[in-house]
Amino acid sequence: MASVLLKNCRLIDETGEIVTGEDLLVRDGVIAARGKGLALPEGETGETLDCSGLFVSPGLTILHAHSPMHILRGVAEDVNVNDWFNKEIWPYESKIQEEDIYWGARLCCAEMLDHGVTAFADHYFHGEQIAQAAKESGIRADIAGTVFAFDGDPEPEMKPVETLMEQYRGDPLVKIRFGPHSPYICSPEVLRTLVEAAREKGGGIHLHVSETAAQVAESREKHGKTPFRVVAEAGGFTVPCIVAHGLWIEEEDLPLLGEDTYIAHCPKTYMKLGAGRGPIWDHWRQVNLCIGTDGAASSNSVDPLEQARLFALVGKLTDRAEDYPLREVWQVLMRGHRALGFGSGRLVPGAAADLCFWDLDTPQTAPLYSPLAAILYSADSRNIRHVMVAGEFRKRDGALAFDTAPILENAARCAREISIRGKGVSKLRF
Ligand SMILES: [Zn+2]
Repeated sequence: MASVLLKNCRLIDETGEIVTGEDLLVRDGVIAARGKGLALPEGETGETLDCSGLFVSPGLTILHAHSPMHILRGVAEDVNVNDWFNKEIWPYESKIQEEDIYWGARLCCAEMLDHGVTAFADHYFHGEQIAQAAKESGIRADIAGTVFAFDGDPEPEMKPVETLMEQYRGDPLVKIRFGPHSPYICSPEVLRTLVEAAREKGGGIHLHVSETAAQVAESREKHGKTPFRVVAEAGGFTVPCIVAHGLWIEEEDLPLLGEDTYIAHCPKTYMKLGAGRGPIWDHWRQVNLCIGTDGAASSNSVDPLEQARLFALVGKLTDRAEDYPLREVWQVLMRGHRALGFGSGRLVPGAAADLCFWDLDTPQTAPLYSPLAAILYSADSRNIRHVMVAGEFRKRDGALAFDTAPILENAARCAREISIRGKGVSKLRF
């Protein structure tokens, strides 16, 4: 792989600190050197790219997605969260096919790269299709293979996840972990089995917790404790853990979380499905808050910038405007790198070269008093000039590195077939 020397960058690091006139040397997928006046070492082949006028930051991440659900974008609109699951999504998903999963994931990867996403955490079944889609798109994916275990036996659903885990062990782009669906579908015993398997295999877990107020009430009735406590008692926070949502986290849940517990916040989904302003907005500084999207079937887009913006705006609307300062919102946007463990998220030698190149000299972002304000409150994918994953440009001069025409064609065909097949009967109950 040829080296790339990025000259005259204005760098925005993961804390929101900005320095100008810096060069980055990218070699073998990582940042090999950082400094002023760098040159390609003699004899080293590579490209020199003048980044004057651009801001370079770590790439964006999405800590909770269901990438195949891109194929269902727009299928369930103007419904509440119960009807969205029970009357729409789960009945449609009961008839979903492997091909839908693959093309949905390809479409999602294309949209994510366009939005500057360099790594995402996914939660779905048929992880092999998602892994293939991620590899072909050149984006990093941490894929949790969903386990429901309706009959209390998780083994049959764990097997394919374990096979995939071995297949992708050591892969630079794809990691596999266990995805117990949630404490309202999986029993405490099933949760414990998956936690122990994650510990043994050196992986982690990713599950939905306290997504709605009703779920917390039901858990109290059934188990006498909150969903977070059910997960904690199964050991869930003693292994690397991605919590999807946690929207209705309670004060008493906070001490249960581990150092390696990260919460994926998806405000657009909560707003669209009328899930309410949960207490996560009261506790966001007390947890490792990151940004998710929950997938395009509920969020209609997979743009982490939009989710971070909505997080801050809902906070400003319902609390005090000064409680959501730019740098802290930026840090929430950047925190997913720590959870994903691909070595990305910092602009220092040795860090993975997963980068986002921002052009803020545009009608929608100029003039530039504050680059962070321009990014967080004005920018969109048009401002993302290039995206680099593992040292390779996956978006260059505003265009993706692959042809999206066959992806769009196949996704449209799958969507037509899904409409014809219609809804089936789901075993799931939200
Ligand atoms: Zn979800």
